[in-house]
Amino acid sequence: MLQTEALVVATYSRRMRLQLANGERVDSRIKGKKLKPVCGDRVLAEPIENENDWLITEILDRSNVLNRPDSSGRVEILAANIEMLVVVAAASPAADWFIVDRYLCAAENMGVQSVVLFNKSDIGKPDSNFDDYEVIGYDTVRCSAESGENIGQVASTLRDHTAIIVGQSGVGKSSIINSLLGEESLRTAEISGKTREGRHTTVNSELLDLPAGGSVIDSPGVRDYAPALTNAGQVLRGFREIDEAGQNCRFANCRHLREPGCAVKAAVESGAISARRYESYRRLLALTEKLDKR
Ligand code: GDP
Ligand code: ZN
Repeated sequence: MLQTEALVVATYSRRMRLQLANGERVDSRIKGKKLKPVCGDRVLAEPIENENDWLITEILDRSNVLNRPDSSGRVEILAANIEMLVVVAAASPAADWFIVDRYLCAAENMGVQSVVLFNKSDIGKPDSNFDDYEVIGYDTVRCSAESGENIGQVASTLRDHTAIIVGQSGVGKSSIINSLLGEESLRTAEISGKTREGRHTTVNSELLDLPAGGSVIDSPGVRDYAPALTNAGQVLRGFREIDEAGQNCRFANCRHLREPGCAVKAAVESGAISARRYESYRRLLALTEKLDKR
């Protein structure tokens, strides 16, 4: 039979579950050792004769990847073809806006739309820094996975997108995903193991279809994702209001630190740019340059 296009919807090591164009889901393995498909990948696959398994033969072009350096410094790809990054802060643990800014910076560089959630609205309100994200053009939602407040709004924001949900541990990412999935939807518990052993393996990364439309890629790695520091240029591009104001700086290569004629510094002084966001920018730039020099 001919190869067909499929979507990787669950993975465990070298075992994958694919969704075919007709919606059917099949288990598969991967041709050769070099191919490393991840959740969200579009692949070419073919059924293996006299077996239930399919075989992935090719990964189609990715629009982006979520990656992180592993312990040996190699880059590990966690997910592909992401359309939306949902950054969660909460009433508790206390919101760390610098961490939120780092995620947003990564998303800008991935060419991914971002949404900022303030979860646990049942136990506290965000400070004014949260509203600043709305001012610079990010969608923001105050919600509670516990009480269900505004979870419907989160669901409609995610509709038609493949999203990942990130943020500090304990802010309620898993709770939000479960609340979006609702009661009746089941996570894929396992992918059938090699037929010879008849073993089943636990899924470690999964693309979950949401009842209201859209999907979320969930895995421990994605939940713990911390953006790797990138180069200075990426930090510049990662703060949209600073990047925009920077078009009016006297020098094209202005880093908005101590340069004369800096439109960004002027905007911070006039209050047009949040001093706290500018501080995040400086902090991330300093961190990145320190790593760059090593
Ligand atoms: P994660 O580490 O970001 O995935 O966070 P979890 O989903 O595991 O949630 C951490 C803790 O916060 C759990 O004890 C949840 O019950 C609690 N939690 C999650 N969402 C809410 C919420 O909206 N309100 C309150 N009060 N607690 C919540
Ligand atoms: Zn400048």
